[in-house]
Amino acid sequence: MTESSASAPRSVSRLILVGPPGAGKGTQAARLAEHLGVPAISTGDIFRANVAQHTTLGQTAQRYMDAGEYVPDEVTNAMVADRLAQPDAVGGFLLDGYPRTEAQVGELDRMLSEAGVSLDAVVELTADIDELVARLLKRAAEQGRSDDTESVIRRRQEVYAEQTAPLVGLYEARGLLVRVDGLGGIDEVTERVLTALG
Ligand code: ADP
Repeated sequence: MTESSASAPRSVSRLILVGPPGAGKGTQAARLAEHLGVPAISTGDIFRANVAQHTTLGQTAQRYMDAGEYVPDEVTNAMVADRLAQPDAVGGFLLDGYPRTEAQVGELDRMLSEAGVSLDAVVELTADIDELVARLLKRAAEQGRSDDTESVIRRRQEVYAEQTAPLVGLYEARGLLVRVDGLGGIDEVTERVLTALG
């Protein structure tokens, strides 16, 4: 057996991954979750799946996403509460893209305390803004996500700086923050995070 993850009990099982659009959260979330033996829960992916399936939630979310704006908190919070209550998330989870606003932080606190559990760590992936925009433009050329046009990409960076960057300080004050440089190869960044988590 390779050094997997799921076999040994890890002390780190409830995590948040935070970072600006383009920092590589999605890629790292999948890899880290596998190492830690917990599901990766991406609010962006859940919204995109709902858009693709033309659900009511998808219809609500799409107009915000296409403008680079956040989906309203009450919509997002209800969706996350639902997802965290599923059996695979009871023993742990890695949240990618949530919480993104102060109201979402409060709501997540409430959900976790109701379940009698708490967060183990908040990992922030950092990167320079010009690098982020360049990466997202490259992804737009390759994959063409509907919110990957240059003006929307810039808007998403602004929304992140205004609404989500301040949350990092909040978690830092709680002693939960682990800050990791998101620049470098995919494996290198995964290793950096796992090392930082100890
Ligand atoms: P990225 O990390 O590239 O910005 P995501 O895939 O995480 O993108 O999210 C895409 C879009 O989905 C966001 O721009 C936003 O409209 C919506 N979204 C995702 N997570 C949230 C959230 N926690 N609160 C509000 N909107 C969200």
